[in-house]
Amino acid sequence: MPDSSEKLNVQLKGEIADKFCRIKKFLGLEQDTEVIRALITWYYNLNKDELSGPPKTMWHINLNDKGVLVWDPDLRKAVQLYFSKQGITCQEDEKTDSCKHVMFALSKPDIQEVIRNRKKEGWDLPDV
Ligand SMILES: [Zn+2]
Repeated sequence: MPDSSEKLNVQLKGEIADKFCRIKKFLGLEQDTEVIRALITWYYNLNKDELSGPPKTMWHINLNDKGVLVWDPDLRKAVQLYFSKQGITCQEDEKTDSCKHVMFALSKPDIQEVIRNRKKEGWDLPDV
């Protein structure tokens, strides 16, 4: 288990607050935090296949001046995209105009910003 920490401040009102109280009573717990822990554990176990292991959707891991590192759930590995004066190249695919990694990267606002800045410097990158 990774050693992570998350501090939550949650305010519940109306119907959802009532449901929370009913669950708390039902579980016989005193502390609100214990109720949250019980619900998280229950939900996690219910959806274990989807929630455990590497992410099931594409997401960008890292962005730097060289390019972008994108997680590919189908390949189950990270794929490097390189930005250069000549354009974008993908480590996995030769045709970057039909590459899902590039398509994904171009849809992300923070990546679009990097691309726009490089375009201003004369790099041959797509309009975003
Ligand atoms: Zn690709």
